[in-house]
Amino acid sequence: MARTFFVGGNFKMNGSKESISTIVQNLNKADLPSNVEVVLCPPYPYLAQVVAENKQPTVKVGAQNCYLKASGAYTGEVSPEFLKDLGVGYVVLGHSERRQYFKESDEFVADKVKFALSEGLKVILCIGETFEEKKAGKTIDVCKRELSAVAEKVKDWTNIVVAYEPIWAIGTGLAATAADAEEVHADIRKYLSTVIGAQAEEVRILYGGSAKASNVGGFRDKKNVDGFLVGGASLKPEFADIIKSRQ
Ligand code: PGA
Repeated sequence: MARTFFVGGNFKMNGSKESISTIVQNLNKADLPSNVEVVLCPPYPYLAQVVAENKQPTVKVGAQNCYLKASGAYTGEVSPEFLKDLGVGYVVLGHSERRQYFKESDEFVADKVKFALSEGLKVILCIGETFEEKKAGKTIDVCKRELSAVAEKVKDWTNIVVAYEPIWAIGTGLAATAADAEEVHADIRKYLSTVIGAQAEEVRILYGGSAKASNVGGFRDKKNVDGFLVGGASLKPEFADIIKSRQ
């Protein structure tokens, strides 16, 4: 089964009503391929705006996080139900910035993945190693640890997209080489096949970490790289070129 190419834009904590509108209008005007799934992930306060302004049928909207309860006394948290109510279909969970700055454990991330899926959201699950872990040869061990926490709680991965984002590559301008990414992605798929069986062939595995228009073409022939999760470059006009990079 061919896996649909996927490009996510993670705006992180960036933007304004005006700048985000410019990004969406630029995409509305672009001639985007019909066979690429695109998900824009603006900060929470701009989700409804992006849903309202987006006119591209292949562009969907995602949140950058959510909590593991439907409602209640959890001041400051955002429930998957709110996201669905707004027309948001995706959520990024386990981003390394949340693991690092907000101390989200593998288990907490896994609980959130399970809950978000049960509420009908699709999940972009981020994994990846630090530079020290890479140097120590622990890349796949870290990925397996992060994936296995989820696999213990979630058996059906139909609505999960995995994003391999080596932490040393995020926001540094130092992307992994296409060959290195392919090797890790292949290892990830192999590991997934041991925990979810044949379904591992259907799970999309994105690369993230300084992906930009000038380097994504190099990943073209990598059969386990099913798209990109793009941070900085998703705020720029070149994001449309990344979406078109597999044409
Ligand atoms: P970057 O971020 O493209 O700015 O490196 C990617 C991400 O963190 O998702």
